[in-house]
Amino acid sequence: MNLSAYKEAANLFYGLGTGDLIYDFAQNMCREAFDGAISPEVRIILTTAQSAYNQSYGWCWPEQNTIELVRQHCKSTSEGIVPRDNRSLLLTLAHEFCHLYQHQVLGGKVGSRGPHRCRSWYDAITKASPYICGVDIEGICKPFSSKRENGAVVKIENPASLTEVELTHWPRSIYKLVEDKDSRLKDRIVDGAPVLAKKNFIAGSNIFQKNL
Ligand SMILES: [Zn+2]
Repeated sequence: MNLSAYKEAANLFYGLGTGDLIYDFAQNMCREAFDGAISPEVRIILTTAQSAYNQSYGWCWPEQNTIELVRQHCKSTSEGIVPRDNRSLLLTLAHEFCHLYQHQVLGGKVGSRGPHRCRSWYDAITKASPYICGVDIEGICKPFSSKRENGAVVKIENPASLTEVELTHWPRSIYKLVEDKDSRLKDRIVDGAPVLAKKNFIAGSNIFQKNL
């Protein structure tokens, strides 16, 4: 199935041009953030069902080439199942595409502490951050370093790094840090507004302005 077929299917299945919204974004993201290393031809499913993990916004099954966006994002209307908030939906889609990149390009090796606390996740979000968040986070995805103390190796927090929680909640966490002018991101802002900047969304509506 090619991209226009995915888009058309989603436009038919959901309401309000949701297929255009999610697949145009996915197409640009795959090209600009991931240098075309992953394909936007992915089944993206919107559902009003509850996530298996209560707090989770989305889910990614790399083997099935499927991403699911769960009920925190979607509502059932006479138009069909539509996003509650387009920007929020796309922030989650960006997160899930990083999982795809983590699996399809970086080999999918995740740490024993889960898919967000490992080198492959840090590498995936480092790759996508300039385009998605408008910042370069290369070199600050190392929450801990170790040192030797009385002959034993101890783990110590690395204050220059983003924390595990911040790295887990990419990209929302990064937008927040930029807003707060966090010192760890000093001199790391890249040229051009990040693609999911609030100003790219028309105030008071759900329409994502294309071609930005
Ligand atoms: Zn995740």
